[in-house]
Amino acid sequence: MTLVALDGVGKRFASGTEALRGVDLRIERGEFLSLLGPSGCGKSTLLRLIAGLAEPSSGRITRAASRQVGFVFQEATLLPWSDALTNVRLPLRLAGVARAEQEARAAEALAQVGLGGFERAYPRELSGGMRMRVSIARALVTRPSLLLMDEPFAALDELTRHRLNDDLLALWAGSGVTVVFVTHSVFESVYLSSRILVMAARPGRIAAELLVEEPAPRP
Ligand code: ADP
Ligand code: ADP
Repeated sequence: MTLVALDGVGKRFASGTEALRGVDLRIERGEFLSLLGPSGCGKSTLLRLIAGLAEPSSGRITRAASRQVGFVFQEATLLPWSDALTNVRLPLRLAGVARAEQEARAAEALAQVGLGGFERAYPRELSGGMRMRVSIARALVTRPSLLLMDEPFAALDELTRHRLNDDLLALWAGSGVTVVFVTHSVFESVYLSSRILVMAARPGRIAAELLVEEPAPRP
């Protein structure tokens, strides 16, 4: 089943920059898709179009009904004055979910990312990797069908990054969630993905598609 379909999608900004040209893409339910390319090739723009946060200047984007989208950005954008549980339950609070259910689901999401027991910790008390885990929990707490990740691990040290790669794969495996993962790391894209779109710049476009035939061993 196709979650999002892009047909001949282009994006030109008012500045004149042609960020994307002629993008044809089908995002299938349950896949782990990477967008790989140098900075400036339009990865973030494409992710925002997929999310519906921006409109294309040409072409068409079609979305399956009833899709909940979760986001994870490079900077773990947590509220510094709120503990981990409060940060994670924020999307549920905004959605009007009852307080007891907010807390139960937020605690469950924290446990899923390996942070059981850290509910009352404040962001400043957590390492960069742990703050990223809180961000992932916050994205997962709404049980999204589509998880969009924009270079989430780029600022982390290599060891932390490898651990997060493994844990993300474990979370994704069998969850049914569709992941679109933006990276400029060839290693990361090959390690994580079932499909890689290699992008090129000026204008931003999909230059090649790689199917990872022999998937990396799943933890
Ligand atoms: P990437 O994520 O691959 O680094 P982006 O999607 O951020 O690439 O940007 C693609 C191109 O579009 C770049 O040349 C960038 O400078 C330009 N761009 C991105 N956002 C805007 C904007 N809001 N206005 C004008 N130009 C933009
Ligand atoms: P609820 O019981 O509706 O889930 P909370 O107990 O989370 O609400 O919050 C109670 C009040 O405190 C709300 O008005 C909310 O806006 C405010 N509040 C909660 N957390 C924060 C925060 N981190 N920063 C600022 N205000 C907050």
